[in-house]
Amino acid sequence: MAEAGINEAQTAAAPPAQDTTDGFHLVIEALKLNDIDTIFGLVGIPITDLARLAQAEGMRFIGFRHEQNAGNAAAVAGYMTKKPGVCLTVSAPGFLNGLTALANATTNCFPMILISGSSEREIVDLQQGDYEEMDQLNAAKPYAKAAYRVLHAEDIGIGIARAIRAAVSGRPGGVYLDLPARLLAQTIEAAKGRQSLVKVVDAAPRQIPAPDTVERALDVLRTAKRPLILLGKGAAYAQADAPIRALIEKTGIPYLPMSMAKGLLPDTHEQSASAARSFVLAESDAVLLIGARLNWLLSHGKGKTWGAPARKRFIQVDIAPTEIDSNVAIEAPVIGDIGSCVEALLEGLGSDFPKPPAEWLDAIAQRKAQNLSKMAATLAKNPAPMNFHSALRAIRDVLKTRPEVNVVNEGANTLDYARSIIDMAQPRKRFDSGTWGIMGIGMGFAIGAAVTSGTQVVAIEGDSAFGFSGMELETICRYDLPVCTIVFNNNGVYRGTDVNPTGGPDVAPTVFVKNARYDRMMEAFGGTGRHATTPEELTAALAEAIASGKPTLINAVIDESAGTESGRLTNLNPQSAATKK
Ligand code: ADP
Repeated sequence: MAEAGINEAQTAAAPPAQDTTDGFHLVIEALKLNDIDTIFGLVGIPITDLARLAQAEGMRFIGFRHEQNAGNAAAVAGYMTKKPGVCLTVSAPGFLNGLTALANATTNCFPMILISGSSEREIVDLQQGDYEEMDQLNAAKPYAKAAYRVLHAEDIGIGIARAIRAAVSGRPGGVYLDLPARLLAQTIEAAKGRQSLVKVVDAAPRQIPAPDTVERALDVLRTAKRPLILLGKGAAYAQADAPIRALIEKTGIPYLPMSMAKGLLPDTHEQSASAARSFVLAESDAVLLIGARLNWLLSHGKGKTWGAPARKRFIQVDIAPTEIDSNVAIEAPVIGDIGSCVEALLEGLGSDFPKPPAEWLDAIAQRKAQNLSKMAATLAKNPAPMNFHSALRAIRDVLKTRPEVNVVNEGANTLDYARSIIDMAQPRKRFDSGTWGIMGIGMGFAIGAAVTSGTQVVAIEGDSAFGFSGMELETICRYDLPVCTIVFNNNGVYRGTDVNPTGGPDVAPTVFVKNARYDRMMEAFGGTGRHATTPEELTAALAEAIASGKPTLINAVIDESAGTESGRLTNLNPQSAATKK
C-alpha cells in the first residue's frame, strides 16, 4: 500500500557502485535468468523500486488495483505455461490480500510465487510495532506449498531457485517468498552476486510410473464392462494433449472432462459423455481418473452420484502419491507425471485391447441424444427479459466461431449454466472458480490469460462475482487488453427479487441496486460499454467486442427472478426455517 508520508529512501534502488550490486538487482536478475518475464503486482513500500527496476530491465510489470487480483493473474499464468506466475506485493495488508490468491493457487495445483516485501525481523520478532508489522512467513505457511525467507543478498539466487522448483515440481502449488526491506537495499560485490545466481535445471522432472502399476491399471480397464475416463485440470495442465487424445481414441472409452479440462479434446468429440454425465458416473463400473481428484466436485467418489451401493473400481493417475485413497479405495494407482503415465498406458494397450461393449456405448449415446434434445428445446426459448439460457445461447453462437478465445467464468447460476452450454474446442482456454468454487477470480484470471496468451478473453460473470474484482476494469483499459467482460445482471446475488421480511428500509441481503449499468463503469476508464437486453443485442455486442480486440463490457440484463439460490450447490446451504421458503 502506498502510504503517504513514509519515506521510501531507505529501500530505494539507487544504482549500485560499479563493482557492487544490491538485492533489488539480484532479485530481477535471478527471475530473468530463469525465464520469468512478467510480474503481476501492486507497488508500495518496500517494493516500488523493485517493480521499476523490473520494467527498466525489460520485464513486464502489470500493476493491479488489488493484490488478490494480481495473485490470481499470476496463478493463471502459471497454469497456462507450467512456469510459476509471479505476484509482487507490499508488506502485511498487501501480503494478506495476495495470500488468498496464493491459497487458491495451492488448492488448485497452479504454480505461483508470491513475493512480498516485509518489515525488519528484529522489530517484528520482538513485536515492537513496526510499520506494517507482521510475521508474514508463518502466516503464509499453512496456505502455501512452501514458504521461504531470504535475509542475505548472496542467498537471493538460491531463494528464487528453491521457490521456482517448489512451485512446479511434483504437484504444483503456491510458494511464498519473503523479502525484508533491508535485504533489497543490501549491497554485495557484483562478481559475488553474479556467482550466487542459480539457473534451475529441469525444474519439474518427468516422473516415470512403475511398470507394474501400469499393468495393474490396464488389467482393470481390460476387464471393465462399463469403463469411463475422467479428465481433470491436472490433465490439461500437463500439456500431454496428444497422448491423452490417443489413449481415449485407441481404447474407445467414453470420457468426461471436469470443467477446466473442457477442450482438452473438443467438447463435440463423439466419445465425450458430458451430455450424459449423471448417467455415466452412476452406471460405469471402472473409472480411470487422470489429473482429477475425488473431492466435493465429484461427490467424494461415493454415494448415489456414483451409483452406490454398487462398488466402483478406480484407477487414478496422479503425481501426488498421497492423493490416492483420499476419499475412497483406489484399486490401481499410477503415480507419475501425466505425460509419462499416459504414454506408458498407451504402450501397454497392445493390439488386442478390447473395445468397450456396444451396450454400454449405445446406452450412453441414447442418454446423450435425449439430454441434448431437452437442452436444445430449453435453449431455443426466447423469454423476455432474457434468462440464463437464452443469454448463454447468444454467447455460445459467437464463441463457436472463435475456438481460440479464452473463457473466464464465475458466478453461481452463471457458472453452472455456462459450463454446460459453452463448448470448448481447445485445451487450457477455460478458467473458472475451480477447486474451491470461489468468487473473485474473474478479472484477475482474465488479465492473466490475456497477458499470457496475447489473445482475446471473454469473461462470463455473474453480477455478484464480478463485484469482487470489478475495479480491475481500469487495469484492463490501462494495458488495453483484449478482454470482453459480460456481466449477467439480475440485480442481486443468485437473483434480485428477495425482500426484507420486516418491511424495513434495508434491502434483502442478496439484493443489489436495481438496473445497475455496469457498462458505464467501463466507459469511465475509456473502454467500450454495451447494454444488451435481448439475445440478438448480446450476440451483436459480443461479436463486435471480439472483432475490436479492445476492452469492452456488456451489461447483459437477465430476468431478476431467474436465479436459483447457490446455483447447483443449494444442498450445501445449512437449512434454516426462518430464511427458507
Ligand atoms: P479437477 O478439479 O479438474 O478435477 P483437480 O485440481 O481436482 O482437477 O486435480 C488435479 C490433479 O492433477 C491433482 O491431484 C494434481 O496432483 C494432479 N496433477 C497436476 N499436475 C500433474 C502432472 N503434471 N502430472 C500428474 N498429475 C498432476
